[in-house]
Amino acid sequence: MFWPWWKEFSRKRILKKPFPENFDTNIQALHFYSRLSVSEKKNLRAITKVIFYEKNWEGCGGFKITDEVKTLISAQAARVILNIKHDYYSRAMSILVYPDRFIIPQVKRSPLGHGVIQKEKVVAHGQAFFRGPVILSWSSILEDMNNPFRGRNVVIHEFAHKLDMLADSVDGTPLLSSRKQYKSWVKIMTDEYQKLVWKYQTGTSDLIDFYGATNPAEFFSVTSEYYFMVPHLLKMAHPELFHLLASYYDPKK
Ligand SMILES: [Zn+2]
Repeated sequence: MFWPWWKEFSRKRILKKPFPENFDTNIQALHFYSRLSVSEKKNLRAITKVIFYEKNWEGCGGFKITDEVKTLISAQAARVILNIKHDYYSRAMSILVYPDRFIIPQVKRSPLGHGVIQKEKVVAHGQAFFRGPVILSWSSILEDMNNPFRGRNVVIHEFAHKLDMLADSVDGTPLLSSRKQYKSWVKIMTDEYQKLVWKYQTGTSDLIDFYGATNPAEFFSVTSEYYFMVPHLLKMAHPELFHLLASYYDPKK
């Protein structure tokens, strides 16, 4: 566990290190990068560097972690916190990467009876642990990078969960700056979430993937993906939701 002064000292040292090989080429391959201002690009590069050097990276299932892998994941995670107060996801000291989608056991309450627990295995693109690591599938990351206009992004999704978890309950409400912001957050998010659930139940299509209708926490992570990947489409389809997410992620824009 780092003490705050030590963290600051160590991060200053990291910022003096040279950028890893092909850093710029890798970072420029990210769809959202060209939309950033000059000062945002500078900040993104700095945050990316800290995440790159500070986290423990672990390849799972035979996957080899390279500088490219670390740069691409760090830069996408950096975009999420670029314009908000943050501590470089300090509760996620490790990032684990599988070559492909991976299996996670899930415990679910059975709809058949009270208190009956069902255990099942689900195939996942990513997973974020409360006060723990983030796990990602590399093939899913590449698929998202190659199809940016679908609006999906597993790195943004999992790191948005990490922000939600900072508020100590995973319910789709991250730490906000004022009572006023909490009030509009609860109102707009509840409203938009319920609309998506209704659309799912009635088979009405929507820009937002119906995985977002799973629960409010997934709704926040899924809509965050659209906010960063296809902001223009989200703004057209869900203007109130877009402005709410913008007030959180990019308050000064
Ligand atoms: Zn999720």
